[in-house]
Amino acid sequence: MGKIEVNRERCKACGLCISVCPKKLIIFSPGPNSQGFYPAEQSSEGECTGCALCAEICPDVAIEVWR
Ligand code: SF4
Ligand code: SF4
Repeated sequence: MGKIEVNRERCKACGLCISVCPKKLIIFSPGPNSQGFYPAEQSSEGECTGCALCAEICPDVAIEVWR
């Protein structure tokens, strides 16, 4: 079991983490950050394995993974 925390202000909403998550549990937030991007966040559906693929692919180092 794991969970992720996205730094909303760092995220540019590129969607790479969404495409790489094997559990398909990252979604775009319904609300924008101060730069007008809709940042990624962990969905309440499904279980994060803590694999950290999302954090590794993020070009803005916006994701922290907790195991
Ligand atoms: S750590 Fe792995 S399972 Fe969890 S959100 Fe990131 S890519 Fe998905
Ligand atoms: S990969 Fe990083 S910058 Fe891109 S949407 Fe995910 S958290 Fe945001």
